[in-house]
Amino acid sequence: NRQKALTVIGLGPMGFAMAAVYLSKGYKVTVWNRTASKAAPLIAQGAVQAPHITDAVKSSELLIISLTEYAGMYTVLEPAAAVLSGKTIVNMSSDSPGAVAEAAAWAEGLGASFLSGGIMVPPPYIGKEGPEIYTFYSGKREVFDRWQADLAIMTATDFRGEDPRLAMIYYQALLDYMYTAVAGILHAIALVQSAGIKAATFEPYLNNLLQFMPVLVAESATIREADDGIYNGTGNNMQMLRAGVRHVLHASREAGINTSLPETIFSLYDAVVSKGLPNAGINSLIEVLR
Ligand code: NDP
Repeated sequence: NRQKALTVIGLGPMGFAMAAVYLSKGYKVTVWNRTASKAAPLIAQGAVQAPHITDAVKSSELLIISLTEYAGMYTVLEPAAAVLSGKTIVNMSSDSPGAVAEAAAWAEGLGASFLSGGIMVPPPYIGKEGPEIYTFYSGKREVFDRWQADLAIMTATDFRGEDPRLAMIYYQALLDYMYTAVAGILHAIALVQSAGIKAATFEPYLNNLLQFMPVLVAESATIREADDGIYNGTGNNMQMLRAGVRHVLHASREAGINTSLPETIFSLYDAVVSKGLPNAGINSLIEVLR
């Protein structure tokens, strides 16, 4: 009954949290980080620090990579290219789907297996359970199946398919929404603050609107119909909505706050109307976005 073992490469907040959780579950954890000193608290918990990346790779069959982006993987692993054959690289870093496809080909060219992972929670959630705590994975099914129980120590797993880009497409699409939504929320706060209203005073109203978002996603046909190109504008059409966005833009200008967001949103709504869809519903925006 061999002790389970893996190597974590990259000890930013995320890699550090992963290594700590595996240690707490009794794994033999080898760690490697460019800035070696970051490993000290993990060594105190029983981790083994590999002096050289080649040792880090040789120590375990499963290599979990958590770097800022994919470029770091080549910088770090190239000196160990000769010992990568037979290893499984699970890259949990963020990047574009194209960068993931290149990395999978690179790893497989060296005789290694490759999975990409897109973690949907910040580091304190690693090792915890909950419906929102999961990671997207993609790559060869048999590779995923071989390591699924080990990967599930970090978060629940959601295998999206064999094309290695798939995990990253889901991941970046959700972050696309999150980054845009957070920017929109903060822009709204800047608007109320310009009138001397505290963000905290505005918060309940914002929360009220956020409660409505699941309704927009789940209960209305708006999103499901986007697949079929059905843009029902009976209740609110693009001509009216374009004027509405223009008013947000003008309010922002009057307030003297940054207008780049409402300008961008206005240009999108305007493009739909210019395309000849003034009576279409809000989901017709997809016509200019795709
Ligand atoms: P950080 O950017 O803080 O981690 C940086 C890690 O990458 C460090 O180990 C750093 O080494 C290393 N690194 C960066 N560039 C290089 C390089 N060129 N060569 C060698 N090592 C390099 O990120 P996090 O730990 O927060 O996250 C890791 C990944 O997980 C990212 O891709 C992130 O997008 C993703 N992620 C993060 C979440 C979060 O909330 N933190 C949530 C979901 C995903 P050194 O210590 O020497 O600087």
